[in-house]
Amino acid sequence: MSVTIVDASFRRVALPLREPICTARTTLTAREVLIVRLVADDGTLGFGEVSSFTTDWYLPEILDDDEALMPTLLEAVQNREFNDPREVDAALRRVDGAQDLPAARAGVECAVWDIFARRAGMPLAHYLGFTGDKAAGGAVLPLADSDATLAAVCAAVEAGYQRIKVKIASAQDIDKLEAIRQNFPDICLLADANGALSEGDFDSIAHRLDAINCACIEEPISRHPEEELVDFHVRLKKVQERVCTPLCLDESWTNEQELRAALKIGAAGCYAVKICKLGGISTTLDILDEAHQRGIAMWMGGMFDTGISKAAHAALSLHPANAFAGDISDTSRYFTRDLCEPAFALHDGYLDLSRPGLGFYMAQAE
Ligand SMILES: [Mg+2]
Repeated sequence: MSVTIVDASFRRVALPLREPICTARTTLTAREVLIVRLVADDGTLGFGEVSSFTTDWYLPEILDDDEALMPTLLEAVQNREFNDPREVDAALRRVDGAQDLPAARAGVECAVWDIFARRAGMPLAHYLGFTGDKAAGGAVLPLADSDATLAAVCAAVEAGYQRIKVKIASAQDIDKLEAIRQNFPDICLLADANGALSEGDFDSIAHRLDAINCACIEEPISRHPEEELVDFHVRLKKVQERVCTPLCLDESWTNEQELRAALKIGAAGCYAVKICKLGGISTTLDILDEAHQRGIAMWMGGMFDTGISKAAHAALSLHPANAFAGDISDTSRYFTRDLCEPAFALHDGYLDLSRPGLGFYMAQAE
């Protein structure tokens, strides 16, 4: 099958958040992203999302830079014939300035995968060779006190989520994890420390942590400001050797090179994968294939992205390298409205992946 892209456009959208996202480095009241829309010669539409942020609080790549590059990236695919979606990544990497902007490339590349899968009449997951028509969801709960956290876990479990991630801000928050585990012995429980723990904390919590049986602890310790990446990886690896609970790298890798460096050294027990940081689906597949061959646990992360990006992550969550469900939840949990059609919503804890392509469109008008 060959596909010629006859029209390529993008727009910047700002989706209001239900609750501000408050971190040590920023407060967000709206999530801005770029939505890429491609049209193939037979009229098939494809969508992709550029999920970087407006400032560099999370990634060095910012949305203004992606927006500035986007016309050139779209030129690289427009009026071109592709025989395989894997050809797109190479074409985009050749664009001047695109090497350091993987999220911008991912937005365009995913839209081409969407077109190929839609034209084949197959859900993206099937087009990629995976089996299954649904993706298990995973809820992410904000930092809160013990009672509020337990109530939120209870509500998420009632909504059908079997994988729950809670944010923790100190070693004392292990109490919260113990309380959750006591009340919910069977859920797949994750904790995200966002770098809030120290190596010394593990003297007292290592044993307790392992007894809780978390699927992973994301970003337990933080990288020092001037620390070489390799030194940080070695420090994390030493902590990992002290606990059975898999320690996970998420925001401390920001691009393909940094993830590959961590994989090479075996820094962590598992890795949160985000397509936008890898420049698209092709590279993400390569990484997942390699991890699977080496027996390294991966899972699909989230970035308060819209249903377009979430749908791509949900499809890739069926890759066998995934150790557990990804950050795949109703986008109405954090947006007052997504522009996705149909609404990005799970049923009994699963996302339906039976529609062709990503299975979602982005509404034209706001
Ligand atoms: Mg995280």
